[in-house]
Amino acid sequence: MSGQGPGWVTIVGIGPGNDALVTPEVTSAIEDATDIVGYIPYVERIAARDGLTLHPSDNRVEIDRSRHALEMAAAGKRVVVVSSGDPGVFAMAAAVLEAVEHGDTAWRDLDIRVLPGITAMLAASAACGAPLGHDFCAINLSDNMKPWALIEKRLRLAAEADFAMAFYNPRSKSRPEGFAKALKALQEACGDDRPMIFARNVSRPDQTIKIVPLTKVTEEMADMRTVVLLGSSQTRIIERDGAPLVYTPRSVAG
Ligand code: SAH
Repeated sequence: MSGQGPGWVTIVGIGPGNDALVTPEVTSAIEDATDIVGYIPYVERIAARDGLTLHPSDNRVEIDRSRHALEMAAAGKRVVVVSSGDPGVFAMAAAVLEAVEHGDTAWRDLDIRVLPGITAMLAASAACGAPLGHDFCAINLSDNMKPWALIEKRLRLAAEADFAMAFYNPRSKSRPEGFAKALKALQEACGDDRPMIFARNVSRPDQTIKIVPLTKVTEEMADMRTVVLLGSSQTRIIERDGAPLVYTPRSVAG
């Protein structure tokens, strides 16, 4: 139905993997779409049907992909851009808005929406208890888009502020040394044995959760399918017969 009716772009999060964690409004946007744009493994999660064109693309082409989505919407298509997890967390929503800000001014008049999804750190936190139960921050450990020195500064200051932390993109194949450097900085800055949680393939059939004291952690415990959580100095472990429960109490004594 190209060129007929108003087009739109909706940037959606399809959650960490389990279809039960896709929200109904995201499912409904996908049902109304004529075109799906996104990174290959995420587009693979969308069922093919008549009238729907899938446009899988490689990693690291986020701006080209965003421009393509906006061009199709301007031509009357109903375009869904898919991200894993939440589209606003180290994902496509900011990329599309960057393309809008710097692109054709006509794109500003398009119907552009962002629909939230369950981000990896929240699914990981739920899988082991409530390690993010008090103040926390999320840091992308990839230095593709920012200098390494800034990552280290943020790690040190987050430790000083005693945040629990969630780390995305912890250890890439092309630059595995980053995670080792991050660990060293955290071990120095925290100076205790708070738990680090390695949550891999969360919500998928092959999910694994490992809880390791910070001083015993080794770099190969993380890969790009892992989101890593680090407790604050207050984080507790409840041992029991089954898997332990990790939580960070809601309050800090004054
Ligand atoms: N927008 C996504 C994050 C994209 S960055 C979200 O909100 O979850 C990609 C990183 O997310 C991965 O390197 C990993 O750290 C994390 N991640 C995404 N899905 C995951 C899953 N099912 N289990 C563990 N980590 C996951």
